Amino acid sequence: MQEGSGCVAELKDVKGIGPKSLSLLNKIGINTIEDLVTHYPFRYDILERNDLTKIEDGEKIIIDGKVESVPILMRFKQGLNKMNFRLVTQSGVVGVSIFNRAFLKNQLSVGTGITVIGKLDKSKNVITASEIKMDLLSNSVKIEPVYHCTSGLTNKNMSTYINMALLMYGKTIPDYIPEEYIEKYNFLNKKTSLNVIHNPSTADKLKEVTIRLKYEELFEFMFKINYLKQLNKIKNNGLERVIDHAEIEKFMKKIPFDLTNDQKKAVDEIITDLEAPHRMNRLLQGDVGSGKTIVSFIGMYANYLSGYQSALMAPTEILATQHYNNLVEFLKGTKVKVALLTGSTPKKEKTEIYNGLKEGSIHMVIGTHALIQDEVDYYNLGLVITDEQHRFGVHQRANLQNKGKTPDVLYMSATPIPRTYALTIFGDMDVSTIKERPKGRQKIDTVVKKTSEIKEVLELMYKELKEGHQVYVIAPLIEESENSDLTTVNELKDQMKLAFKDLYKIDIVHGKMAGGAKDIIMEQFKENKVQILISTTVVEVGVDVPNATTMVIFDADRFGLSTLHQLRGRVGRGTSKSQCILISDSDTERLKIMEREDDGFIISEEDFKLRGHGDLFGTKQSGDMSFKIASIKNDYKILLQAKKDSKEYLLNKETDQDELKIKLIHSISTKES
Ligand code: ADP
Ligand code: MG
Repeated sequence: MQEGSGCVAELKDVKGIGPKSLSLLNKIGINTIEDLVTHYPFRYDILERNDLTKIEDGEKIIIDGKVESVPILMRFKQGLNKMNFRLVTQSGVVGVSIFNRAFLKNQLSVGTGITVIGKLDKSKNVITASEIKMDLLSNSVKIEPVYHCTSGLTNKNMSTYINMALLMYGKTIPDYIPEEYIEKYNFLNKKTSLNVIHNPSTADKLKEVTIRLKYEELFEFMFKINYLKQLNKIKNNGLERVIDHAEIEKFMKKIPFDLTNDQKKAVDEIITDLEAPHRMNRLLQGDVGSGKTIVSFIGMYANYLSGYQSALMAPTEILATQHYNNLVEFLKGTKVKVALLTGSTPKKEKTEIYNGLKEGSIHMVIGTHALIQDEVDYYNLGLVITDEQHRFGVHQRANLQNKGKTPDVLYMSATPIPRTYALTIFGDMDVSTIKERPKGRQKIDTVVKKTSEIKEVLELMYKELKEGHQVYVIAPLIEESENSDLTTVNELKDQMKLAFKDLYKIDIVHGKMAGGAKDIIMEQFKENKVQILISTTVVEVGVDVPNATTMVIFDADRFGLSTLHQLRGRVGRGTSKSQCILISDSDTERLKIMEREDDGFIISEEDFKLRGHGDLFGTKQSGDMSFKIASIKNDYKILLQAKKDSKEYLLNKETDQDELKIKLIHSISTKES
């Protein structure tokens, strides 16, 4: 392994890299020698041995033959030279010309067997060779790296610079795998691995070093994550409190249902964290409808018992209001004072809440972004919870945490973030997972229908409505727009009125309505005063109306699978059989995944495969996960191993003086500060 601080030479020291190429390399983010040699090919072209007759004009060819004529060498200005000769192959004679290989002239005597790689010009019957192998290639394929380049910088240039850098400075490139693991896995050393990845001779060798380089990248990443996690634990920087467990037990008895085992476990984990001297940094993940809310409420109550204030932030007013109502109900008979703070809270009330929070007379507050406004000050904030955390940016979450001194932090997520990514993005968090569904839940039947089948859809709706159940209808748009023929909420309202006459009350809710108006309609829906609720995706997150058993989504192809899963999660919340109807004339293959799968984890993985992670995370977060060679998605097994090994390495006291360990830790502390 490389000792010391790594490569001290600079890019411009690499032979062949002049000022012009230097600035081109900088342009694509290559600033150091290490950047250059880890500029990995994004793919490889596999060239097979070929036949002159089977190759099209201008295509790449790799061909064996014997030199038939003495090479003629031409020298131009400034070291440029060109050599021409004829080659006899099994499929005929062809001319070969190659630039700047004057030094090969003596070896290319007539009759010598060689392999030529180049481009065939059919009309001239000449191969312009990029390479001549003097020893006949033993394997029948040639693997050619293909790099991301930029105009003015060819693939060939890139390959040349990289190989020159490896030749001159290969030994000084740092290796982030500790010696013991290199031995354990029988890995090749860094320099050799880099040589192979840029010049693979066989597919097997390439595979071997690819795994090694991926492991290295993931090891470094996971080491840092593990270290941060450790640091947080060691620092003892949290609030230490005493919680009356008997009081919590008593309180939990009042819940009208039995908690699932996963819920109980999550409650235990949260309470243990609250009591411990370190600061809680926990993600509570569980599929839609798995019952995260009640778990967080118990946490808030425990926090109250220890004498601190709690704040819960939700992404929408509808959701915040619903949580508030539930919490108030839940806390009946206690002395806890709860407030709701959203954008539409009247000014006077707002001021009262600000005061209450500042003096400590309000114990719990639920709200939207309004909670992180500058005016909000707390007396002693001890627990911060964000619901549907993926809806908030990193900054917004941090802002809420900073409102208290060192409050414990709980994030809740309905896992639109696949397990695999959660592990890395939230790698410095502890995770509680609720997998088990509450008793009595049934699978939601999901079908994809065409717009021409609307009659059947209406019949299905009618059947449910007749049984006293309620229906959600979702459209992508609120009102008509000139450049779109997507279904709108307004137009659906007219259609539904036409279909159901005055039999059922129909209303609409959407994001552009004032908060108060939305609340009124949601409340009416909850109380079954409205039977058909037409909406945009504002009902996507969290809304809980167990009597609603049917979800109809128009233009379903417009939504990501995770969104559809969230929307579908609005039904199937009670004990009655529920259904979800996806209406679309296109992209039905993708939508069929919804018919098949009801596990949010699997769906988000599928979504990820189809759409990439751009849709799932804010740019900030995805930026943290940019790897050069590894992919969290495809290399999950390597990731797990690297996670385990890096933790073991971190905890191993004997390696505390290792240069590598010191360097890894140093790179974190300089970055974080
Ligand atoms: P989510 O995890 O999606 O936020 P909620 O917390 O909104 O889910 O819970 C969904 C519904 O399930 C709510 O009506 C809630 O009261 C109910 N619920 C939660 N836990 C249980 C349980 N153990 N048994 C029965 N119903 C439960
Ligand atoms: Mg929820």
